[in-house]
Formats: sequence, structure tokens, C-alpha cells
Amino acid sequence: MNAPFPNPDTPQANPDARGMPALKVLVASPRGFCAGVDRAIEIVERAIDRYGAPVFVRHEIVHNRYVVDELKAKGAVFVEELDEVPDGVPVVFSAHGVPKAVPAKAEERGLDYLDATCPLVSKVHRQAERQLEKGRHIIFVGHAGHPEVIGTLGQVPEGTMTLVETIEDVARLDFPKEEELSFLTQTTLSVDDTAEIVSALQTRFPNIVGPKAEDICYATSNRQAAVKAIAPSCDLVLVIGAPNSSNSLRLVEVAERCGADAKLVQRGAEIDPSWLDGVGTLGLTAGASAPEKLVREVIDRLAEFRTVDEEKVRTVEEKMVFKLPRQLMD
Ligand code: SF4
Repeated sequence: MNAPFPNPDTPQANPDARGMPALKVLVASPRGFCAGVDRAIEIVERAIDRYGAPVFVRHEIVHNRYVVDELKAKGAVFVEELDEVPDGVPVVFSAHGVPKAVPAKAEERGLDYLDATCPLVSKVHRQAERQLEKGRHIIFVGHAGHPEVIGTLGQVPEGTMTLVETIEDVARLDFPKEEELSFLTQTTLSVDDTAEIVSALQTRFPNIVGPKAEDICYATSNRQAAVKAIAPSCDLVLVIGAPNSSNSLRLVEVAERCGADAKLVQRGAEIDPSWLDGVGTLGLTAGASAPEKLVREVIDRLAEFRTVDEEKVRTVEEKMVFKLPRQLMD
């Protein structure tokens, strides 16, 4: 549902030649590609340059159809399982990470593989191993079925990590109070929801051990904070991202919690002009796997219906860059 009337806090611009008031567009920054996504895409591109096409990629390298289609055009072939990769062909593992069994299987088959797992996801994997070595059962906060969660659960033997998604799940845990527990989290969760779940864990299990800094990555936190900065002044917030992109879905939720209507869009063409009825100020952001080209595409689409008055709202400067795997450095 769109707001029936423009936000009363939004100064209404004079009508344009079409008789329509200008649309104020607040563009959140940071938005879009993070360092992990940049790195993962570069790994596939460099692998194609080095080995020649086709280079197989297990799972969408990042959750964005536009990115996947561009890489397909350059010679990448996307599959869901290693069994679909023919012998003698290089394979890249996606930014979300994979269970340990996957590289083990690739080695067994003698496949050349490149791991595009984001270093911040790998950090959680290493933390899981450390907690296990210390004899602690791990409570993992994440969304069931997401590839990052499948990858992290697959770092430790079955039965040593328990997934919780909600506060209700925490209430259902049946460990004794004195059990040696630790918790870890998925990197792309809602900062606010996760704080509540962690607090519920700490209340139920006062001795539970957690990471020094939360596992939610800098890009997820920064994009959520940027949406919080614009959403209260917006009638509608558009989040560019895929329906299977965890961090994009969280941005929609954050905008809604700030009182704005919010929609997830993948491409400019999806925007229906009726969405803009009664909208004076529109917020725009993009999930960490959505390229900047799509931000321009969405703004161009909005400009088909209204004169766009664009304003960037920057909350923080990002300078993070991750190194490429050694095999691609020389
Ligand atoms: Fe890495 Fe965070 Fe980007 Fe995921 S969203 S690839 S964890 S930096």
C-alpha cells in the first residue's frame, strides 16, 4: 500500500510540464556492491581470463540475476552442485561459502577450484572451528536454507551446531543452563533483530560465549543504517535486490520499521507508475549484490513518470577491499 497522501514533512515541488510534482529521490549511501561481492565477481572474471571459458560456478556467485547473466555472457556456467561440474574444468565457489565437504569432494576429483567465499563469512567458519575445539556447542543465528547458513553448518560435524531463527526458537532450546555454549551469526541479518535474539540467548544461558564484535558484516550494518537515515522522511522506499538476497530483504524490513512503505525491485521495468501515487519523497537503496547500473536504471524509470530531484544521503564512507585468492594474484 502506498501512503494515500504525500508525507506532510516533504515540501511539495511545483508541478512539471506533465502537471506532476517533482519526485524527491533520497539515494542512500552506502548501497549496492560490498567488498565481498566485488571480489567474488572479479574471481569469476579472472578465472575466465586465466583458464578460458567455460568456468563453472557452484550456486549464483552472488544473489543477483543481472550479475549472473553478465557472467554467463562472458563464459561462466552456473550449477547448484559439484556433481554437475565435468572433470577437468575449473569451478568457483560462491561468496556465501560452502560446507567443508564441497572443497573436499573437489580435491578428491582433482578439480581446480577457486573459493570466492567472502572473507567475512570465512571468519565465521574459523570461529566455529575454534568454539568446537574448546568443546562448546554452537548456537547459530541465521535463516534456514540460506546458502551461507548451509555452508556454516557444514563447517562442523552434525549435531555440534544448532540453528535458531527467532526468539521463540531460543525459548525452545533445551540445553541445561550450565551447558558450555557459544553463539555465532549469519553475516547478513537484521542488526536489530539479531541484538534481540542474542540478548534472549544471554538471558537464558548467562555463560554463553559470543564473538567480540558481532558477525553481521560491515556492509549489512552500513546499508541498514543508511536506510534508517532516509526512510523516516520517505513515503516509499525502493530496495534494489533479489528475492533470495538476505541483506536486501532486511533493508525492506528496516524501511518498513521506520514507517515507510517499502518494495523490493530487481529491475526498473518492474516499477508501476501507480506506486508513485501520493509519493512526494522516495528513498532508494540497493542490496550488497545489486550493481550500481541498476540504481541508474531505476532512477531513469522513475524519471519516465515524474521529474526526479535526486539527493544523495551518505551516512558513512566505505573503504573495505579484500585480496583475491593467491592462485589469481600472479
Ligand atoms: Fe561479505 Fe557482507 Fe558482502 Fe556478504 S554482504 S559478501 S558477508 S561483505
